[in-house]
Amino acid sequence: MTTHEHPRAGLRVVGGGLPLLQVDNVSLEYRTPDRVVRATHRVSFDVHAADRFVLLGPSGCGKSTLLKAVAGFVPPAEGEIRLDGQRVRAPGPDRIVVFQEFDQLPPWKTVRQNVMFPLQRARGLSRAEASDTAMHFLDKVGLAGFADAYPHTLSGGMKQRVAIARALAMRPKVLLMDEPFAALDALTRRRMQEELLALWEDASFTLLFVTHSIEEALVVGSRILLLSPHPGRVRAELNSHQFSLASQGSAEFQHAAQRIHRTLFEEPEQAAPAATPQSRRATHTH
Ligand code: ADP
Ligand code: MG
Repeated sequence: MTTHEHPRAGLRVVGGGLPLLQVDNVSLEYRTPDRVVRATHRVSFDVHAADRFVLLGPSGCGKSTLLKAVAGFVPPAEGEIRLDGQRVRAPGPDRIVVFQEFDQLPPWKTVRQNVMFPLQRARGLSRAEASDTAMHFLDKVGLAGFADAYPHTLSGGMKQRVAIARALAMRPKVLLMDEPFAALDALTRRRMQEELLALWEDASFTLLFVTHSIEEALVVGSRILLLSPHPGRVRAELNSHQFSLASQGSAEFQHAAQRIHRTLFEEPEQAAPAATPQSRRATHTH
């Protein structure tokens, strides 16, 4: 398979326009001693290089489980996940997850050591190289001045910036984020959304972002997959690159948010029927 550099520096595009990430008819299950819980049912979507692809749906629709499957922690019960055309079978440094929790940074390491650790461990960088790369990405998230601080001295927003710097420094093919800003206060959350978009413009990466907030999905995403729960199924897929924080108050934005709300929460009989073979794949709305 041939690959070449995307015009946006650092992004690899697979020859022939193959999507970077393909989630193909994926059902995911949890097996407990007495029963099997189906978390997602035949979910399909494609993520292209430089997409900001959002999984949106209410609690329990399988967003976190889908992210874990893409990360390689949960094997599909049916279907297949492919990255650059290769079947995902295990976790790897080409897929890094940023979680909601503030305690994802080992507290005994400084900010810089936290970012350096996976670069030395999983990427095999020397101490000096890892330190330079860590400082480069800490600078990008505005934390170069806190390189020698310990995580417990930082605010929640600053800890999330460190987690994002650590993830981006690894140069993953896909950055996976599971409700990364959900535990932040409203103003910090807004600022983090803004910073994430600025980072995407600057460092150009491919993002798979999970949220249950319709507004956050519209602001952060370039494409949105709508999922309904129990088990998680695809309801629709739509474009959202036209929206930003600046357009949040506009009539068009409100209209899009209401349409998504209706699609997610109307009874299946009134919206697209979920169980007929023709409607199993995403309904494309624009
Ligand atoms: P979301 O992130 O969209 O809220 P999850 O992916 O966490 O949804 O969960 C999807 C479904 O799988 C839910 O019904 C949840 O109860 C179930 N589930 C999640 N984790 C486990 C687990 N470890 N064991 C059994 N069931 C689970
Ligand atoms: Mg979740």
